[in-house]
Order: sequence, then structure tokens, then C-alpha cells
Amino acid sequence: MIVVFLGPPGSGKGTQADFLHENYGFTHFDTGSRLREEIASGSELGRRIASYTDQGNLVPIEVIRDLVTTFFETNFERRVLFDGFPRNLEQAEVLTTCLADSGLSLDCAIYLEIDSDSLVQRIVNRRFCPKCGEIYNLISRPPAHDEVCDKDGARLVLRRDDTEEVFRNRLAVYDQQTRPVLEYYRAKDQLKTVDGDDQIETVSASIVRLLELDGIYAP
Ligand code: AMP
Repeated sequence: MIVVFLGPPGSGKGTQADFLHENYGFTHFDTGSRLREEIASGSELGRRIASYTDQGNLVPIEVIRDLVTTFFETNFERRVLFDGFPRNLEQAEVLTTCLADSGLSLDCAIYLEIDSDSLVQRIVNRRFCPKCGEIYNLISRPPAHDEVCDKDGARLVLRRDDTEEVFRNRLAVYDQQTRPVLEYYRAKDQLKTVDGDDQIETVSASIVRLLELDGIYAP
């Protein structure tokens, strides 16, 4: 089963992707995390990537194409969830081609629709664990102990592109470049919409229902 998550930054894609990974065995292909790993490695490519991500702009297509083709070549699994990709129409075509070349097709694109007023609050309160990548929100999903990860005790951090100023640009980039991807999948009759303003558990339940996953995986 191949699924794409679409929605603005802060709509909960990462949280729901973690849920599908942990409970239903999906491989979570997350371009944002892969780019952050490259930045953390201190490589020259990482420095180039950071010059885009620090401003909230999309990194060039060659970088994304490399990540995606490597993923398809090396570790393609039975259940895959694409999160943060595709982010524009060119990338949507890359995915369609890679899937077709592998004899696969997309099952559905899930749009986490959310009221944009709540996004800034979600983002400035978002924290993540630099060790395991777990995502928290100080208001809606706080860690058990003050800003440390429940899983490994590492101190949680704010992503450097989660400041209000950079976030506003990420939102503008989303509107201009990623929103048309919704229409791309709608035209193929593959787009399903979920109310991302609901509680985390309610959104997860909607996704499970929509993908008809109930009872088919025993973690
Ligand atoms: P995310 O973790 O998905 O919010 O992504 C963080 C940042 O990484 C984005 O603001 C972009 O600068 C960059 N990025 C992530 N995924 C992509 C992509 N598919 N195409 C281009 N840039 C991306």
C-alpha cells in the first residue's frame, strides 16, 4: 500500500506518519528528516540544503530526486508512506514515474485539512527529540517530564525553521507550490480529505478507517 500525506506544515503529517509506522508497519519516507540528517552531517551538500531550509524554501529538485531514487532502489517496502513529498507538481510527476517504473501505483493521497489560524500556535509549540525524532507539542502532546523525550530522555529541541518568521514563508511556499498537488491527485480521483483540526487520536482513527487498515496488522 502506497500513501502520500499532504497538508501545510504543522498539520500533523509527521505525527500521523509515526502512528502508521508504529501500528501498521508503514515505512515512513520523510524528505524533511532526511534533509536534516544531511545538514547535521556537516557535509557541503548539507550546507547547501540549509541555505534553502533555513529560509523555508524548497530545496532544488535534483536533491529530492536523488533521495527518492535511492529510496526506490534500496529499501522499498510493502507499505510506504510519503510525508513531505511531493511538494510541487514536478515532484508529483517524479513520484508517479518512480512508482510506474517499479510496477507500483499510489493507493491514495490523504490531505490533512486544517484551519491556518491554528498552525502558527502548533508550530511555535512543536518540539522534537534530536535522538529518535519523536515529535511533541507542549500544549496538545506534551512529554511526561519538562521538555525531555519520553522514549530516551534526550532534551527536546525547537527546529530551527520553526520560528514564526520562517514558518510564514513555509506557509506561503505551501500555498504557491504544494497546494496545486492537491488538484493533481484530485484529478486522478486519488485525494481523500481528513479533518486535521480534530484530536490526534480522532485523526488517526479517520485515517485507519479511510485506508481500511483495521485488524490487518498485528504489531
Ligand atoms: P518538513 O520537515 O517536511 O517541514 O521540511 C522542512 C524543510 O525541508 C522544508 O521547509 C523545505 O525547505 C525542505 N523540504 C522538505 N521536503 C522537501 C521536498 N519534498 N522538496 C523540497 N524541499 C523540501
